[in-house]
Amino acid sequence: MATNKKIRFKYIAFAAGSLNIIVALIVMVGWYTQNGQLLSVVNGYTTMKFNTSLCLLLLGKALVIQATYYFRPVKPLGYFSAGLAFAVALLTVSEHFGASIAIDQVFVKDNTHPALEHPGRMSLITASSICITAIAIILSSSQRVFLIRISQYMMHTVTLITFIVGLGYVFKIALLYTFGISTPMALHTCVCLLALSVGTSLINYKYGITAVFTGDKIGNVMARNLFVKLVVVMVVASYLDIYVQKYDVMSEGVGSAIFSVTIIFMSFIFTWETSKMLNNLDRKRELISERLSLIFEAMPNALVMGDSEGKIILVNREAEMMFGYSRDEILGKRLEVLLPKRYRAGHPGKMKSFFITPFTRHYASHANLYAVRKNGEEFPIEMGLTPVKTEDGIVGLATVIDISERKANEKTIQEQVRELKIRNQEMEQFNYIASHDLQEPLRTVSNYIVLLEEDYPADPEVELHLSAMKQATNRMSRLIKTLLDYGLLGRDKILAQTDVELILNDVRADLNNLIKTTGTTITINNQMPKLCAYETELRQLFQNLINNAIKFRKKDTSPVIDVFYEYRNGMHEFTVADNGIGINTRHYKNIFNIFQRVNREDEYEGYGVGLANCKKIAEMHGGKIWVESVYGEGSTFKFTITNIKP
Ligand code: ADP
Repeated sequence: MATNKKIRFKYIAFAAGSLNIIVALIVMVGWYTQNGQLLSVVNGYTTMKFNTSLCLLLLGKALVIQATYYFRPVKPLGYFSAGLAFAVALLTVSEHFGASIAIDQVFVKDNTHPALEHPGRMSLITASSICITAIAIILSSSQRVFLIRISQYMMHTVTLITFIVGLGYVFKIALLYTFGISTPMALHTCVCLLALSVGTSLINYKYGITAVFTGDKIGNVMARNLFVKLVVVMVVASYLDIYVQKYDVMSEGVGSAIFSVTIIFMSFIFTWETSKMLNNLDRKRELISERLSLIFEAMPNALVMGDSEGKIILVNREAEMMFGYSRDEILGKRLEVLLPKRYRAGHPGKMKSFFITPFTRHYASHANLYAVRKNGEEFPIEMGLTPVKTEDGIVGLATVIDISERKANEKTIQEQVRELKIRNQEMEQFNYIASHDLQEPLRTVSNYIVLLEEDYPADPEVELHLSAMKQATNRMSRLIKTLLDYGLLGRDKILAQTDVELILNDVRADLNNLIKTTGTTITINNQMPKLCAYETELRQLFQNLINNAIKFRKKDTSPVIDVFYEYRNGMHEFTVADNGIGINTRHYKNIFNIFQRVNREDEYEGYGVGLANCKKIAEMHGGKIWVESVYGEGSTFKFTITNIKP
């Protein structure tokens, strides 16, 4: 809205500047063609001197440049124009005070008033007003507030002068347009200078008296309304009064009485209107404040307001309940009563720094803040502190949340996590020891099988049994080895900056033979990320998925594998999709458990540990793994990992 206003005012300034340029050019043409009508607007009125029109042209141009600030480089041209106008006007002023520079007749000869001692010389008020305006236009683009203010008040002076001159013309009182000291200011000069002064003052509309009329506050709206109306009424009434006196329409006493009554009556009407407007606004403000206090009361957080001296000035219902004080008890007390004793001494200092730099602060649960209830019970809190402007200066509004329950929950969760970690470690330990120790008796059994084979070399029945036993022990040995590997997975994991693209290339190289013999196509569809991860384990994850994608291919169909990557919800998500046999929905969950297999062993060999390893690796990276598959149309494995902070 403010920018709109700014642009609107720049347009007005631009229009004022343009008006000056146009009027000045017309008058100049008048001088060169000796057209009296163009020089004085109304026959018999004072003419605008050529030098005046030259100055107005220059000032108009300066103001147009000032208003169209987009053309920064031409700014100096504006200063130059204003400076030139100032020089011409100043020389004229000095001539008025006796200097003889002959600036008046340099450009044209003035024959309009041969009786005058100095024809062609602009009047002293015009010359002075032009001097003031020129300086004000130059100062109006200053960056320093002090200079802008000076420019504004200079412009206000010119507005006042031209307003008085204008009134002089309206009332036909020569004293007003001559100021009793010089030749008169021409009517169109007066209008042009008025436009220039108002236009220039609008460029910096936030300063000087202009601010009173252009602001958005209620006082400004009132000033705009009342002032303009009063001026119009006064001017019209005065004009009528003068007219009545001049033409003897009625006796002087009656005229003055009507004049007074009109002014009083109109003033009353305006006051009435204004008071109605103010009352309306007041009612709206009351409604807003009522609504605000309802919200304040209904807030689920405790709200405590304290002044700069540290006294509690406002609390809501939740604060009463949280701290255990009634409103009457707590209001006027020092804020420190709500703090544990050990924090009280340091509080005034902290409060002071808040009021020196009053901005919103938030103290989260890890800031370890505590408050104290009336019964002395201490409790942890989370708090926001906001400075609020009031008519008595800035006060602090504290929003307090009792986080006792949350803290208690956090503690329980932490304890449970710790316990789980210990249990996990114990399980891993057990797994390792068990699988390690199981190898030993198995080896003994294997040895005895060898001995038995040697002892009964020719017995086919014994040979059959021994071969079955041998197969079983071998399988068990492999299972135990798998279990051991599963337990050891990630034990010595090392975090490293990992390029997933390189990992995929390694996997491709490792599986090169299998890829060639099965005619597999692997496509990496996006740019793969570089991230901090457990590189060896991540490679194993990809290797397992790609290996499975080839292993569980359809008969007579070459495997086609697509790898995708996407960064989604703060996680790195990878997809490995194949065109293999697919997986039945009911197995989606259990295939990730250790030793879970879905297919017959004689069709696809394996122990059902690959995906269990994948799950462990994804979880090790703070992610998860799942499958999306249409049975018979291939499987899509997806897993997420985080960029682990070293
Ligand atoms: P294995 O070590 O036996 O391959 P995995 O743990 O890797 O075991 O896989 C478990 C089961 O999930 C497999 O037996 C297989 O039935 C199924 N499976 C895994 N990957 C795929 C895939 N890409 N397509 C179809 N089935 C799959």
